Amino acid sequence: MPHSHPVLPLVAVASLGGTISMTPSDAAGGVVPTLDATQLARSVPGLSDVATIRTASLRQLPSASLGYDDLMAALAWAEQQIEEGASGVVLTQGTDTLEETAFLLDLFWKSPAPLVITGAMRAPQAAGADGPANLLAAVRTACHPDSTGRGVLVVMNDTAHYARWVSKSDALAVQAFASLDGGAAARLVEGRPTFFHARPVRAQSLPRPVRDWPKVALVSAVLGDDGELAEMAVRGGYEAVVIAAQGAGHVSFGFAQRIGELTSQVPVVIASRAAAGSTASQTYGYVGAEIDLARRGAHLAGWLSGLKSRLLVSALLATGTAPAELGDALANWSKLTRQ
Ligand code: ASP
Repeated sequence: MPHSHPVLPLVAVASLGGTISMTPSDAAGGVVPTLDATQLARSVPGLSDVATIRTASLRQLPSASLGYDDLMAALAWAEQQIEEGASGVVLTQGTDTLEETAFLLDLFWKSPAPLVITGAMRAPQAAGADGPANLLAAVRTACHPDSTGRGVLVVMNDTAHYARWVSKSDALAVQAFASLDGGAAARLVEGRPTFFHARPVRAQSLPRPVRDWPKVALVSAVLGDDGELAEMAVRGGYEAVVIAAQGAGHVSFGFAQRIGELTSQVPVVIASRAAAGSTASQTYGYVGAEIDLARRGAHLAGWLSGLKSRLLVSALLATGTAPAELGDALANWSKLTRQ
């Protein structure tokens, strides 16, 4: 009797570069992106027992040099793979900007199928290279039925994170990612993603951009700061400013006054520069605190980090939200966190 082989799910894997793909270069004196998706997939023991893998090499970049166009191209490719029958999609990329790219792609990802992003902290030739294990865990997550309807997931170190909450919390450690506020989405146990909570309510996905991506500044409020840099950004043509403000959304007296002047020109969003936690809305009453800044016309980012607020503002403007409607759009979006 012939052996019957189980039909494996199809998972599409595309590489964008990053440490996971880097090998030593004598000329550069360090590792640089060289490996493509096929080479990455071949380096993973047991991958072909988990899924049928289709590969594509979209970019070979360090992740700081990925741009909006690269990501929109990756999004289109990923959507096409799902249309053509893939159960899920995996993108490999550098970890440095992963919390940003995952969030940006999540804003646009409309399929219930999983889009999983992974990378590595140690390059392939290093002792204890984590790329193969991360790619295997990402593929396992991408084709598991429990992963559907959760938007973009970041899988690193046998942990899945929601794009919404994940941040790079360590520059070099293998345990480089954390979801400090929302908590991890799942842990992989014996190869199976074990989700901790029901599927989250997701914002409606954004349509494709209808204009060029706007310049949106992200400016940290720091000790002794009167907000001059934020003003220079507006004078320099930035269409909106996100302030990574102190504590729960606070700036100095001088900075507050500048924000009051800027809000009549461009949208100003106040996020917290702390690693975790939300902006407040009705706690502090002094000049430069959240109540004062909201009165001066700034929008409070809630749980969204400065990095993610900047991307949300950019994506809303790029997809046709008028600057005057940005406050309502941001408020609607952040309501989802409270459901
Ligand atoms: N510098 C690398 C990059 O982001 C880091 C990494 O891939 O982990 O491309």
